[in-house]
Amino acid sequence: MTEVPKENGIFVDMKIFFVCLALALLLMGFGYFPATVEQYYSSGLYPVLLALRLWLTAWVPFSIGDLLYIIVFIYLIYKLIRSLIHIKKEVVNRGKIWRVSAIILLVWISFKLLWGLNYDRLGAGHLLDIEQKAYSGAAVDSLVNELIDSLNSTRKQIAEAKIQVDTLPVGNPAPYFTMAQEAYQRAKTSYPFLPKQAPRVKATFFNPLADYVGFTGYFNPFTAEGQVRTDMPGLELPFVACHETAHMLGFASESEANLMGYMVATKSANPYVRYSAYNEIFSYAQREQFVLLAQQKDSVRFMGAVAHNKARLDTLVKQDRKAVRNFFNRHRSSVAPIMSGVYEQYLFLNKQNAGLKSYDEVIGWLIALKNKK
Ligand SMILES: [Zn+2]
Repeated sequence: MTEVPKENGIFVDMKIFFVCLALALLLMGFGYFPATVEQYYSSGLYPVLLALRLWLTAWVPFSIGDLLYIIVFIYLIYKLIRSLIHIKKEVVNRGKIWRVSAIILLVWISFKLLWGLNYDRLGAGHLLDIEQKAYSGAAVDSLVNELIDSLNSTRKQIAEAKIQVDTLPVGNPAPYFTMAQEAYQRAKTSYPFLPKQAPRVKATFFNPLADYVGFTGYFNPFTAEGQVRTDMPGLELPFVACHETAHMLGFASESEANLMGYMVATKSANPYVRYSAYNEIFSYAQREQFVLLAQQKDSVRFMGAVAHNKARLDTLVKQDRKAVRNFFNRHRSSVAPIMSGVYEQYLFLNKQNAGLKSYDEVIGWLIALKNKK
């Protein structure tokens, strides 16, 4: 019997690595053709891939993706400890370097194939026939005013229907996830590109980490599950669920997930869902209004806008917003900005050039939508 020379093993590892590299480059190149990605991936292959994964995961009441993250985490810690113990005994194994590099590439390829290509699509603007353009301060002011009107009138309906507004965490988040699912079901008549069956988000395993990482929800591109933080005020849940559902449906960009979440939630028959969405998007719009005025260094108009919004907002709306703000202030952590920085790098890597500001771009979309009407 002859022994296989060790060099052959390295050769095989190298070969696998270069095959992965070629595949990764091919996918990267494909990303530079948004119209093709939209037609063949986002509106073609992706819905099939999503349906397959929902078939596997939707009936399980907990997040399979979170469970997988925990298993991978424990495995990596085990590998790290093992390699630290054996560090002296082990000679540097060149084959291993090729193998690990190939695995990293494979993870990236799976990410891109299973969901990540949606970053390169034409997206919501194309589907709704609107375009992001530069907008004036007056357009933002008018949007803010409209949102205040919507907030006030929806809050009134909630009070009349004797619905409790949850400014603290709720015991059972499930009814709120159902509200979001129902909103998608109903919005289908207005937006025919939405699927027949709306998927449902799940509760995260990682509530205790939420303050440190600074998330309210996140999407798992491998299992196609949307997870929502459940230890936050109940008022937040319907909109965050609608936002994560948009990610599940292939709207990768944060501004588009905000836009779709808002458009779907505001079509809901349930005033609580509409209120949740108006409240969230009003925060974005008001921040944009204040930032624009601050940039003009016009302190009189700035203070005027602050007072104007305050005077126009219904007392109950102000109470709700204050309670929610207080909740998040109590839960603020010094680690969250670091984690936000990590997420921002991820967004840059996926050609989201606005980084964390891409959430705010929803304002540009809403103004474009208003102009279209
Ligand atoms: Zn998101």
